[in-house]
Amino acid sequence: MAEIFYERDADLSVLRGKTVAIIGYGNQGSAQAQNMRDSGLRVIIGSISDESAERARGDGFPVYPIADAVHQGDVVSLLIPDEVQKMVYQTEIREHLSSGKVLNFAHGYNLRFGFITPPTDVDVVMVAPRMIGVNVRKAFLKGSGVPAYMAIWQDASGQAEQIALAISKAIGATRAGVIKTTVAEETDLDLFTEQAVWPIIVRGMMLAYEVLVEEGFSPEMVVLELFASGEAAEILKQMARVGFFEQWRFHSRTSQYGTLSRAERMLPNTVKERMRSALAEIRSGAFAAEWEEEGQRGYPQLLQLKRRASTHPIIRAEEKIRGLVDFSLLE
Ligand code: NDP
Repeated sequence: MAEIFYERDADLSVLRGKTVAIIGYGNQGSAQAQNMRDSGLRVIIGSISDESAERARGDGFPVYPIADAVHQGDVVSLLIPDEVQKMVYQTEIREHLSSGKVLNFAHGYNLRFGFITPPTDVDVVMVAPRMIGVNVRKAFLKGSGVPAYMAIWQDASGQAEQIALAISKAIGATRAGVIKTTVAEETDLDLFTEQAVWPIIVRGMMLAYEVLVEEGFSPEMVVLELFASGEAAEILKQMARVGFFEQWRFHSRTSQYGTLSRAERMLPNTVKERMRSALAEIRSGAFAAEWEEEGQRGYPQLLQLKRRASTHPIIRAEEKIRGLVDFSLLE
């Protein structure tokens, strides 16, 4: 059973008088920096000179080059894209990560696969919100929070867990609940969902589109039916809200019977073997090695895959029906 921490389990005082250096002012960086500042902490931003740095200045934060911010920070939150973290760590961070500092990640990828190996005399923790940055901020402002995963990679001070809990509290996550995990579990689960669950959903929709249009259905109606009406999003939302099975009560009995009676025929149990091999590829580091090589070559395969996906006829069909749906109903 997962261990879950709440407000009463976390004490912000372990961060009082310390400086939190948020590296990167993007999705997570801007939300976490503002929440931490509103929680009474001293927050500075480390950024390259770009639009993000301007935005941070506009929001009233002191902004420094990354190496300076790491030098000043007691806690360093690395909130730049995962694929650039290794390079930025080597060139701007490693040298300034002196004994006693805390390095915090929002995703475990670079630790898990050995792309970043911090010195042994710093605490290394992970506080990974399960939500996009905009909502991390929105929830905080409403007085609630978003759940997060917390893991301790390296406890040099003996206080790493209290510090990770305080970070969680400062960004509002303990208001919702913080699940204790490991870096490997968080990373592997995240990659598995991306590589074994979403492909089934996305490819399922593409194949369904192809079959239906080949069988004479109107492309626009098919797109509306599959995802563009927002009904599919609503199903996922209700799964989260009322439960995986309970959400079926919002659908007709015909729909309930049709889905449940055909589910296994459409996706036989043999798919579990493919899922297991996807997981094995993640756990062995084979995927990380493949992705690292792809990055070094300038992402040629990713560009080609995106080009191919963007020419699927589903794209043309959806353009014609954009504007039909009132998305405020889905919020
Ligand atoms: P973003 O893509 O929003 O980028 C964050 C910041 O990094 C931006 O300010 C960006 O600047 C800057 N940046 C980009 N490239 C470089 C570089 N080469 N050198 C220095 N700075 C750079 O990142 P996210 O907030 O999405 O992700 C940050 C971390 O949070 C990742 O570990 C991610 O896995 C994790 N995470 C993200 C979630 C999300 O909401 N997206 C959810 C949970 C975890 P610029 O504006 O110039 O591009």
